[in-house]
Amino acid sequence: MKILVCGGAGYIGSHMVKWLNARGVDVCVLDNLSTGHAAAVGARQLVVADLLDPGSLEAAFARGPFDAVMHFCARSLVGESIREPLGYYENNVVGTLNLLQAMQRHGVGRIVFSSTAAIFGEPIAARIDESHPKAPINPYGASKLMVERMLADAAGAYGLRSVSLRYFNAAGASPEGDIGEAHACETHLIPNVLRAALGVGDALSVFGDDWDTEDGTCVRDYIHVDDLAQAHWRALAHMDAQPGAHVFNLGNGQGFSVRQVIEAAERIAGRTVPHSIAPRRAGDPATLVASSARARDVLGWSPVYTSLESIIETAWRWHRAPRF
Ligand code: UDP
Repeated sequence: MKILVCGGAGYIGSHMVKWLNARGVDVCVLDNLSTGHAAAVGARQLVVADLLDPGSLEAAFARGPFDAVMHFCARSLVGESIREPLGYYENNVVGTLNLLQAMQRHGVGRIVFSSTAAIFGEPIAARIDESHPKAPINPYGASKLMVERMLADAAGAYGLRSVSLRYFNAAGASPEGDIGEAHACETHLIPNVLRAALGVGDALSVFGDDWDTEDGTCVRDYIHVDDLAQAHWRALAHMDAQPGAHVFNLGNGQGFSVRQVIEAAERIAGRTVPHSIAPRRAGDPATLVASSARARDVLGWSPVYTSLESIIETAWRWHRAPRF
């Protein structure tokens, strides 16, 4: 089997590449290295190319033929998407359109797409399942929902097989400590908490303590990157058996508040996490918790990292000694 992993040098993509390499799958990584790291993947696997440059895409497809594409390339910061919406639509929608057209040209008929909980907007249910209304409240979520729509239309018209996996909050790192979350400008909660524990980077700001939640801080559903990789692996098998465009929500099904994350990190690191309360961040819903019953039932997916502690523990191993 040969897979093209777009965005394979990034945080989630590099964990996927490691997962596929461990199973003997032939992998080619396409990445523009805008936020990814060449050191996260094998040099022989990497093609530096940009989805916005259809010419450079050909260099990656020349390494085929591929049985499937996994597509992790995206700009993915909610706040930035509100400030730069057109850049988000260009990168996430036009880039994916170029990729789908290249797949058509090269006869590749399967794709696993990284979607997001941000397509749902403000939840109207305690646990968000696949049928929850889709009403994104930021351009990031809207751009991902547009791609889900393109995939559904392409399934009907061309028979393209796809699985869109809607991640809740990806977190953690490979337990071996060789790859992890490394963003030049880090905005995500768990890395920022651990960096504050280490005394590196900016002091931690908690974005609001007056939300309508138990302790007033936002509640999220944290899901380990290797559990996301497991779901992609199972999605490949699902597409073999089932034509069409499929969607699955991926989370632990448990919500944790920002305060609970800080407390768990303090226990794991054995250090205090200095922090202060800051204003709410634009585009944040109060609570996002998944129902992943469908992924469990249909894909046979079963997350391994079910406790917040086990997720933060692997992230801590990385942040104490990042390799890049
Ligand atoms: N958050 C925070 N301080 C930070 C980063 C994040 O208080 O430095 C909060 C953020 O407002 C949200 C939660 O932590 O409620 C998770 O944010 P993150 O950026 O990790 O993921 P998102 O939910 O935006 O995908």
